[in-house]
Amino acid sequence: MPRPADPLLSIIVPCYNEELALPLLIPRLKAAALTWPCRHEVICVDDGSRDTTWSLLQAQAAVDPHWRAVSFSRNFGHQAAIAAGLQNARGDAVVILDADMQDPPEEIIRLIAEWQQGFDVVFGVRESRQDPVVKHILAWGFYRVQSKLTPTPIAKDAGEFALLDRRVVNAINLLPERSRYLRGLRSWVGFKQKAVLFRRDSRAAGEAKYSFAQSLRLALDGIFAFSTVPLRLATWLGIGVIILALLTTVFLLVRPADQLPLSSALPWLGMLILGGTQLLCLGIVGEYLARIFEESKARPLYIIAEHTEKPL
Ligand code: UDP
Ligand code: MG
Repeated sequence: MPRPADPLLSIIVPCYNEELALPLLIPRLKAAALTWPCRHEVICVDDGSRDTTWSLLQAQAAVDPHWRAVSFSRNFGHQAAIAAGLQNARGDAVVILDADMQDPPEEIIRLIAEWQQGFDVVFGVRESRQDPVVKHILAWGFYRVQSKLTPTPIAKDAGEFALLDRRVVNAINLLPERSRYLRGLRSWVGFKQKAVLFRRDSRAAGEAKYSFAQSLRLALDGIFAFSTVPLRLATWLGIGVIILALLTTVFLLVRPADQLPLSSALPWLGMLILGGTQLLCLGIVGEYLARIFEESKARPLYIIAEHTEKPL
């Protein structure tokens, strides 16, 4: 697919309480932009920050015509902020960048180069993680479980840092679902995909904005929004438990009648196993039911309270 002669690149930056990171990000991104072989715009999405993030963004948009910003009416979450950026971007290609500079702005030029070569989804894969050990282990486990359970592969150690061609952005914008897990969606849409290795730095300033519960929710989205395997797990568990019950019955029947203690404990054990299995299956069904409930309400993903003038 040939690229436009004078392409426009949109950079989407989700920001939640990033008043410490933004003063570092702005000059760094501007310096990086000087090296790009294309025009650019920066769209910052203020995800309901309670600090001075919004006034910083407004000030930046006032002095630099490349920058614009939208602000949510409250905190809707990282994925919603990215969705808003994708809806508002006008570029022929779009890059998603964290405000904390964990995704180095200097790497964007490598993504652009791959896009110019014909790739439609160019995503960063971290070659080293600066995160705490616990996060490391959980992430490791997640990628393995996710890839076993879903037909939509999510690249290991890839984050949101990626460049998407306009056709990919249009395809993603058309997806109506509310559990938005961009890493999954951008794999699901197809097109020519390419991984680029990069060093993910530690957060430049401020605290991580993701709570453990939010990360867990995102991980569950990555599995339950892309796979029905857990639903079928109930069937297999049921079959397994029935076989176990039959074997236990045979075992009890052939045992000498005088060994009562064990045989009287077994039914209890059976009940516990069965009870646990039933609860587990109920929980899995609940995960899907909750998602159907969320989707059926069809509320918007986010509400925009304010936006800066659109100079482009
Ligand atoms: N973020 C957001 N809304 C939220 C949480 C985070 O827009 O509710 C933004 C945040 O400002 C940052 C990016 O999402 O630009 C990644 O967040 P963070 O650095 O806290 O996550 P981590 O790097 O720890 O995964
Ligand atoms: Mg971060």
